[in-house]
Amino acid sequence: MTNPIYINQKEIQKRYKQPGKHTHKGIQGHALIIGGSYGKIGAVSLSAKACLKTGCGLVTVFIPKCGYTILQTAIPEVMVLTDIQEEKISNITFEIAPQAIGIGPGLGQKIETQKALHQFLKTNKTSLVIDADALNILSQNKEWLSLVPPKTILTPHPKELERLIGKWYSEEEKINNTISFSKQHQVIIVMKGAPTQIIDGETVYENTTGNAALATAGSGDVLTGMITSLLAQSYEPISAAILGVYLHGLTADIALPETGYQSFIASDVIANIGKAFL
Ligand code: AMP
Ligand code: MG
Repeated sequence: MTNPIYINQKEIQKRYKQPGKHTHKGIQGHALIIGGSYGKIGAVSLSAKACLKTGCGLVTVFIPKCGYTILQTAIPEVMVLTDIQEEKISNITFEIAPQAIGIGPGLGQKIETQKALHQFLKTNKTSLVIDADALNILSQNKEWLSLVPPKTILTPHPKELERLIGKWYSEEEKINNTISFSKQHQVIIVMKGAPTQIIDGETVYENTTGNAALATAGSGDVLTGMITSLLAQSYEPISAAILGVYLHGLTADIALPETGYQSFIASDVIANIGKAFL
């Protein structure tokens, strides 16, 4: 089995870029988070807030109409675009030019949403992070993978990974099948778990931060926002994935003495991103 490269502080310091003294929001990157459906607007809200807190200059969300007031109230710093439909995404069109797009949190898998995702993938050229229901839809339509830009980042948890690459019967088989999938489709796969491993072609990276406190609702949505933010700030896709996963885990290590495993929630990841960067 391929030896992993450990994602530790040394690996991070090689990749981290300090924002310049004279930077401004216009060059700190504009990220777009697409997702949400009735009852799952919170997923986009968490993702978008994490995105902002990870340093990009501007964040826009694209959500169904029912999330408009929720988002504008929850995060005044975020700009909101809405679908024509009230409760689900049915037609992804926008006139902004973000540097990175995260798609999937809270998206749902309604047939109109599936069609909208297909249509979006056919025309999109922007760097992408694909998570949650967008991944589940892709798993049911694997031929659409030919439409994603090279080095698109997929962030499956173990169940989502199984839907994507099929069943495995040993850790070695899981890694080997994921490597084949990554090479075949030219995608980076963040295999979320304990520990999270990142596969980029033949190369396997293994994260060294994080703990079981992260096993909580919305934790993955937050990670999607963080990686999308780094991608919008012009990090190479592999560096965005590595830095995002490391910082996400570090927030839980920092917070653990105060929250314990039980009381840590996804908002605590967001609250500790600043300390993780420091
Ligand atoms: P999701 O299932 O999409 O909400 O993603 C869960 C996130 O929490 C991923 O980043 C996982 O790597 C992380 N996570 C879940 N359980 C654990 C655990 N026991 N130890 C470390 N990280 C975990
Ligand atoms: Mg998830």
